[in-house]
Amino acid sequence: MEIKITKTTTPKEMPSEDKLGFGKVFTDHMFVMDYETGKGWYDARIVPFGNISLHPASTVLHYGAEIFEGLKAYRRLDGGVQLFRPMENVKRMNNSAERMCLPLIDEKDGLEILKTFVKLEERWVPKSFGTSLYLRPFMFGNDESLGVHAVKRATFMLIASPSGSYYAEGINPVKIMIESEDVRTVRGGTGYAKCGGNYAASTRAGEKASKMGYSQVLWLDGVERKYIEEVGAMNVMFKIDGEIVTPLLTGSILPGITRKSCIEVLKAKGYKVSERLLSVDELVEALESGKLEEAWGCGTAAVVSPIGKLAYGDKEYVVGDGKIGEVTQDLYDTLTGIQWGKLADPYGWIERI
Ligand SMILES: *Cc1c(COP(=O)(O)O)cnc(C)c1O
Repeated sequence: MEIKITKTTTPKEMPSEDKLGFGKVFTDHMFVMDYETGKGWYDARIVPFGNISLHPASTVLHYGAEIFEGLKAYRRLDGGVQLFRPMENVKRMNNSAERMCLPLIDEKDGLEILKTFVKLEERWVPKSFGTSLYLRPFMFGNDESLGVHAVKRATFMLIASPSGSYYAEGINPVKIMIESEDVRTVRGGTGYAKCGGNYAASTRAGEKASKMGYSQVLWLDGVERKYIEEVGAMNVMFKIDGEIVTPLLTGSILPGITRKSCIEVLKAKGYKVSERLLSVDELVEALESGKLEEAWGCGTAAVVSPIGKLAYGDKEYVVGDGKIGEVTQDLYDTLTGIQWGKLADPYGWIERI
């Protein structure tokens, strides 16, 4: 594909690496391309980062036709830059697009856009271990009319934000509340798609949990309000009596690339891993009998996030000894080792820029 590049004439200065935070600072450029039925994708371009202009009737503003992805560019110890399983993001974006009646992108083009953009913004990939250049591809429906139907026009964009280490203050286990009122999504709905609407619908429960002193909620399924699904915007895993259990992808769960990678690493290390239904009753029983040895969330932002305490109803339980567990730590070391190029990559997950 042809990508037209217009470079900025006023490059910005990158803030110091210990002050980056998450998603607040953006690089010099952004990628944009447009779509129209009959014409396909056109005008692939990299332009200076800036505001965009939308028609007030633009579909995304009224009917929420929006999907996104999240991945990182990592600085290796030897100075090189690399991506972690980027094709998985491209494929997932197409699955999300299919669900939301947005146009698909050619997979090869998707990867080329990511690589071309990261190459151009290379100086924005911070250097310290744990820091990264966070990449945010997104797409929205952009018909300029209020009719409700599959869109005829869409826009795909990619922006990037240098981000600080998620664990600048060390890996501290979090307190999680099991949510029994709000649900994130239902089977048949949009749970498996990475779409903005899922986030809008989850915000209220997250805010409630935060007011009560918890960092996130553990979601139950929307049909029976019984089976564990995810934790906040991360997938979730448990070690129960030696077995590693993660919820089966039933359609209402986002198929995380970190989840998939954790499963593959754990199996390679000889652990018994089960993707199955896990009821909240089974989880509470494991907590009460002391069989819940470890619990953690997993996703691109944190890699893994150990769960130290779980609240259900008016009871609060400590998971294991309340500290980061052995398996959680091992996963963190293995995945971050591969991502930041400290460890060899026996899986073929790395894509060098
Ligand atoms: C993005 C996301 C995840 C994690 O996916 P990764 O590919 O591992 O980053 C999990 N749950 C939800 C709801 C998400 O949006």
